[in-house]
Amino acid sequence: MKKMFLDPKQPLYTCKEENCDGCHVSEKLVCHFNGKQLGLFLALFFPLFIFGGYGLFTWKIWAFIAWLVFIPSFFGLIEIRVMCSHCPHYAGPELSSLKCWANYGSPKIWKYRPGSMNVFEILIFFLGFVLLMTPPALAYGLTQRWWLIGIYLALLVIAFLCLHLFYCKRCINFACPLNAIKKKDREEFFDKNPSEKEAWKNSKKQ
Ligand code: SF4
Ligand code: SF4
Repeated sequence: MKKMFLDPKQPLYTCKEENCDGCHVSEKLVCHFNGKQLGLFLALFFPLFIFGGYGLFTWKIWAFIAWLVFIPSFFGLIEIRVMCSHCPHYAGPELSSLKCWANYGSPKIWKYRPGSMNVFEILIFFLGFVLLMTPPALAYGLTQRWWLIGIYLALLVIAFLCLHLFYCKRCINFACPLNAIKKKDREEFFDKNPSEKEAWKNSKKQ
């Protein structure tokens, strides 16, 4: 039976070590993912999307359908191209789809791009989130359902706050504009992943 996540003892494809046992890097960064992390991620974002979808559905059906179509297009195609394709988790050739704590299951249809994101990619990344998160707030606002817009915005703030605290502060995708890893911890990861370090340096020169 295929495992849901990568073996936690097996180093990343980009890592020069032979085994992850006792690696101090894993105290600060998350190289391997598990069901608890994925479950928390879904618990944070599902209520937000359900509540957002409800706002659009009860406003205009066409807006709801367009938003529904955009969600898998963004996370399954666009976001993985501009952001995830830079992640060391994405590098492993044994994976045909992501087995991580957030975009679990998204197909790896793009080639791996180690190094930082360019300005265009960062713009697309943020634009995607604006297009996803703004319509539900507009729908609640235009129909003057003020307490519902309050709940939606509260869910949004809680989700992104928890994302920052529990994910971005430990994430190995340093290219992501939301990544909040300390420079010292990033350097320690680079020491074990020299090809990543090289790609990072080269992309910063461009
Ligand atoms: S840096 Fe390498 S050895 Fe350390 S936990 Fe990550 S993949 Fe394993
Ligand atoms: S950037 Fe995040 S969501 Fe994308 S592959 Fe890496 S860990 Fe998963």
